Amino acid sequence: MEAPLIIRRKRDGLALSRDDIFSLVERYMRREIPDYQFSALLMAVYFRGLDARETADLTEAMMRSGQVLDLSEFEQPKVDKHSTGGVGDKTSLIVGPVAAAGGLMVPMISGRGLGHTGGTLDKLESIPGFNTRLTLDEFRRVLGACGMGLIGQTDDLAPADRRLYALRDVTATVESIPLICASILSKKIAEGIDGLVLDVKTGSGAFMKSLEDARALAERMVAIGTACGKRVKAIVTDMGQPLGCAVGNALEVIECIEALKGHGSGDLMAVSRELTAHMFVVGGIETTLEAARLRFDSILGSGHGLEKLALSIQEQGGNPRVVEDYSLFAAAQFEDAVVAPEEGYVAALEAETIGRASMMLGAGRERLDSVIDPAVGLVFEKKVGDPVAAGERVCAIYSNDRSRVARVREMIRGAMRISPEIVTPPRLILGEVGELSAVHGS
Ligand code: URA
Repeated sequence: MEAPLIIRRKRDGLALSRDDIFSLVERYMRREIPDYQFSALLMAVYFRGLDARETADLTEAMMRSGQVLDLSEFEQPKVDKHSTGGVGDKTSLIVGPVAAAGGLMVPMISGRGLGHTGGTLDKLESIPGFNTRLTLDEFRRVLGACGMGLIGQTDDLAPADRRLYALRDVTATVESIPLICASILSKKIAEGIDGLVLDVKTGSGAFMKSLEDARALAERMVAIGTACGKRVKAIVTDMGQPLGCAVGNALEVIECIEALKGHGSGDLMAVSRELTAHMFVVGGIETTLEAARLRFDSILGSGHGLEKLALSIQEQGGNPRVVEDYSLFAAAQFEDAVVAPEEGYVAALEAETIGRASMMLGAGRERLDSVIDPAVGLVFEKKVGDPVAAGERVCAIYSNDRSRVARVREMIRGAMRISPEIVTPPRLILGEVGELSAVHGS
């Protein structure tokens, strides 16, 4: 069927056949369908949705746009983790090394910043020399050498996601359950994994603002991943405020290195610990979550997680000395601050606005061809629930273009709420979907 007729079907709320979905993706990848037509289709999907069968077909069509890795020559269980996207969402750089040090193989294909959210690839590229564009042979070699590898989508692995991810970012079609589901699962299944742990974010900084939508996304991803023969677990976690303290690429990598040295902030460590523990259970390394959490603690305490990160940086062409010498990272020229306007307790640090403020500094892309500034960003010294005095610093702003600081400060002030009453910090783990399911309520 001609592309406009298929787009019209979806625009009118009708289901697309498997053949139509495969043909659209194949023709888009051969550049027989231009971006403007695929954009119209994405917008129709955004408004009309895809049912479970159509989502599974889109996932498979996107996965089959490239190869599916066979990592059976490696004896470790292959388990990855993927987040649906957030602000200050840096757990991959803690979870990956600890999981690999704990006996799993972690073949991680990540994305770049999407919308107001940060991307693991952009963070990694703030490490001098780090190469996220490995060939498949190099990826295999790195996996063999250190049990983890961190790359982006390539011409061989999930190429359809590479193009569609960028197209969705600039066509306001990111926040769609079927499109997020197909994007994530197409690249994860192509990795040749046995199991997957999904961190499904909910709250102002997430693409799924409500717990109900986050659960629906989690359920659909678990169902499709399981139907593809993978052990899949989804954890729904809070993204109402940035995770940890730093938002911005090099600043977040430094925060992860500190976390692997045992100095991580409470929320970042709690989410990283839970995700890694589930990975150990999904991979069969541990049979109970309690034992898996203790494994995380012991690896962190031994320093093996940090050693694994340094090795992976070295194997991917980066300078492993960054784990000891932070002056090797690009540094911003200017430091400014946002202070509390009055005494009280931090009641909100609205994450989406904070993500947009960080983009405005240059930490994210405003256009497809924007160049990321690895040095800039924000570091929060107070989080939701913390007491503050009037005039006390809540956040540091690191910039290279002072003309943007006034607007960024205004945005952060708008995102921050101070209450005269004591505020309880938000619950971080909001539910689970998949094996060992145990919902913690809303
Ligand atoms: N992460 C992805 O890989 N894809 C999305 O669509 C959202 C988050």
